[in-house]
Amino acid sequence: MDFTLSGESKMMVKAARDFAEQEIDPIMAKVEEEDALPDDILQKFAKARMLGMMIPKEYGGIGSSALNIILILEELAKTGSAAAFLVAFCNSIAETIYNWGSEDIRKRFVPPLCDGSLCPAMAFTEPGTGSDPTAITTTAKPDGDYYVLNGTKRFISHGSKKGYGVFYAKDETEKVTAFIVDKRSEGYTWSKPWALMGLAGQDLVDVFLKDVKVPKEDILGEKGKGFHILLRWIAGERVQQMAFMVGMGQECLNESLKYAKERMVRGRPMTAMQGFQWMLADMHASIEACRWWTYRIASKQDEGGDIQVDSAALKLFVVPAIQEVARKALQIHGSYGYCKDYKIERLYRAIAHAGITASSTEIQKTLVGSALARS
Ligand SMILES: Cc1cc2nc3c(=O)[nH]c(=O)nc-3n(C[C@H](O)[C@H](O)[C@H](O)COP(=O)(O)OP(=O)(O)OC[C@H]3O[C@@H](n4cnc5c(N)ncnc54)[C@H](O)[C@@H]3O)c2cc1C
Repeated sequence: MDFTLSGESKMMVKAARDFAEQEIDPIMAKVEEEDALPDDILQKFAKARMLGMMIPKEYGGIGSSALNIILILEELAKTGSAAAFLVAFCNSIAETIYNWGSEDIRKRFVPPLCDGSLCPAMAFTEPGTGSDPTAITTTAKPDGDYYVLNGTKRFISHGSKKGYGVFYAKDETEKVTAFIVDKRSEGYTWSKPWALMGLAGQDLVDVFLKDVKVPKEDILGEKGKGFHILLRWIAGERVQQMAFMVGMGQECLNESLKYAKERMVRGRPMTAMQGFQWMLADMHASIEACRWWTYRIASKQDEGGDIQVDSAALKLFVVPAIQEVARKALQIHGSYGYCKDYKIERLYRAIAHAGITASSTEIQKTLVGSALARS
């Protein structure tokens, strides 16, 4: 077992750290105020070679690895920004379209996700369900060379941005099929963004599909097998989400250390007191455990292994561990941590999302528990 990072990986980490410090940290106040990421952010990510990372070069990608994406995301996540999530999103959706798409689909839809010219979406949640995709009610009816989609999708990240999204709908056989939908199609409209607790600029909207026509050749994967594509996408997305948690947890510790070294309590810096040292030690130990387990599952993905259950178990462990790290960081900061002037406040809010999205913690328990029971 080799725990050392390659020279290429180290260079990528350094580039991502520099990018986060130079391009994201300085704009965060504006992003929070306007609840919007800059229009050119995707092109900047593309220029920094952070998109299409798992995509072969002939389709415009970098041809890198799942582990390298994880390493980059960990650095970007230290900003506590939705920009980091956007990178994960573009990479995982490009990979999904590449993996399941026909040659024609690959050629048409993958390169624009590698050069940052279009923004993707992945839409399964509906007003009636988020955890049970078999209960979706969006329909897709065949009509000549097209399918006609009708329904409402809820909480769709970047649902209003120009580009294509993978939308899940029940076809005429009542099975879930994945359709690639142009977000500028006739009949495609969206709500104003939901005002979120954290992750400013996430552009989380409801999408309304009214007689939206999708060419039959733009079905992703096999007809009726959309649920399978969705589960595979969520498994990869979960590992990337855990990389955010590791990065944000690490930044909570970095900020806490900085603060505790300077803050005087009874004439001594906080770091001189055993109670605070123990808090910092617990934070450090939790983050390290989460980090290495996340790397392990990403490596398994690179080896071609099935990560459905592993990624679920990972999430079960990482989410509460890093949420406790964030709680401790806020506690160390006292009232300053509750103020928007301190980064810890943004990180705390961003970290709160993870138990719900990319399949909730409770659903992970069911996944892991039922797999154990079957084994
Ligand atoms: C920032 C953000 C970004 C998002 N981006 C997207 C996106 O791009 N695309 C998209 O499709 N969706 C997206 N979502 C939606 C998100 O994936 C869903 O909200 C999530 O899956 C949970 O669904 P729900 O809100 O309907 O909760 P529900 O499914 O109603 O669950 C509510 C609670 O019940 C629990 N629960 C549900 N079923 C069970 C069960 N069988 N056993 C035990 N407990 C159960 C859940 O764990 C949860 O605690 C996003 C949400 C957020 C906040």
